[in-house]
Amino acid sequence: KTSIGGISTARIADLRETEAEAFRQARPKSAANVGNGLQGFFGGVPMHWMNDWPTPFPILVGSARGATITDIDGNRLDDFCLGDTGSMFGHSPPPVARAIRRQAGRGLTYMLPSEDALAIGPLLQQRFGLPFWQIATTATDANRFALRVARAITGREKILVFNGCYHGSVDETMVRLVDGRPGNRPGLAGEFRDLTRATDVIEFNDVPALEAALKDKEVACLITEPVLTNSCMVLPDSGFHDALRRLTHAAGTLLLIDETHTISTGPGGYTRQYGLEPDLFVLGKPIAGGVPASVWGMSEEVATRYADYIRTKQPGYSGMGTTLSANPLQFAAMRATLEEVMTEENYDHMDHLARRLDAGLTAVIDRYRLPWHVARVGARIEFICAPGPLRNGGEAETAHAPELEAAIHVALVNRGVLIAPFHNMMLISPATSATQVNRLISAFGAVAARLAA
Ligand code: PMP
Repeated sequence: KTSIGGISTARIADLRETEAEAFRQARPKSAANVGNGLQGFFGGVPMHWMNDWPTPFPILVGSARGATITDIDGNRLDDFCLGDTGSMFGHSPPPVARAIRRQAGRGLTYMLPSEDALAIGPLLQQRFGLPFWQIATTATDANRFALRVARAITGREKILVFNGCYHGSVDETMVRLVDGRPGNRPGLAGEFRDLTRATDVIEFNDVPALEAALKDKEVACLITEPVLTNSCMVLPDSGFHDALRRLTHAAGTLLLIDETHTISTGPGGYTRQYGLEPDLFVLGKPIAGGVPASVWGMSEEVATRYADYIRTKQPGYSGMGTTLSANPLQFAAMRATLEEVMTEENYDHMDHLARRLDAGLTAVIDRYRLPWHVARVGARIEFICAPGPLRNGGEAETAHAPELEAAIHVALVNRGVLIAPFHNMMLISPATSATQVNRLISAFGAVAARLAA
């Protein structure tokens, strides 16, 4: 390959090298501390994803507030990554910080409910429209538990996913279409099972494939994000969600909507904004403002069937739950987030700036005639270094340009802007300012100029 995303590979390599050097120059203290890895940690990082940032070494954070991160060398970054959604309402939102301080001296985990739990139940019901809820600690776990309920009440083993999906490290979703054929997702560590035995995978926006996959009535659950946000960004065709609901109903397959990323759409997620009718609903990451927590909800019908199932199942451990889930710190932080942070007013601000960012990035792409495009779901924006829109995970896989993206990311960091690694995701928080958005657009323009020159 001599070019990627319309840019010559030589130019990309040159940008990456120059920018890596500038990154090091600006961080002597960080380099001394983490340049050769953090002592005591396998692979030099406390969590191996931190080695996947495109910077020469991870940014060692001194502090973060609102939508700004400051590293230990004193470099300030406008943060559009926001912990890859965990902090999409800003770092330490003041109401959440207050709630944490209030709870800090009253016990942090007891395996018993607190008074805040009394408020959370009704808040979840009103906000997301489902009548029954459970609390977990990660979105991964919430998805695992919801899938287990789906299998339990349908008595079916199979689940169905869309190619390119990500729902956390949930084993049974780790499948892909490779050259059109289903298989385990490449790269899985220590996986000896053929996951496709119990998981079907088809392309997003493919209604005939969906009909075919559901036809034999063997699928317990279809799990999906409303918009695929983990393979670049793939928006649903108009009518696709209607087809999903109609066809799953007809096949007795439950529909699990994972809103963990698309909560960027509005206070009730994509589900409320577009009137989806999931049987099961999952939301993790930012639901407690950055304190690890997730929620999963059930429809009236699922709850009734699950209660019946529990009455008749063999007594014993359900295989669900973790010890620190539904702890009082989670409840305090979640209540503050739902009541005071995930407000219409904050979402209006986020949406307004997200539109500005979308338009600004698009204008840069047009100005330099790059074969790229921008996609957006509410306050979540992605630039994609390929023409669009993308229609499914297979197209997204082809569009993804890791070498080019890595060079752009480091160049943006050197211009004071942090976006999410692995792809080109940017989030607007209630704390993000118009000035920060303008700086991102200018930085993107400067990098595009350098690449297109
Ligand atoms: N669902 C979706 C849609 C996600 O994008 C992710 C993580 N990127 C998860 C679930 C899992 O979240 P966690 O890693 O916090 O368990």
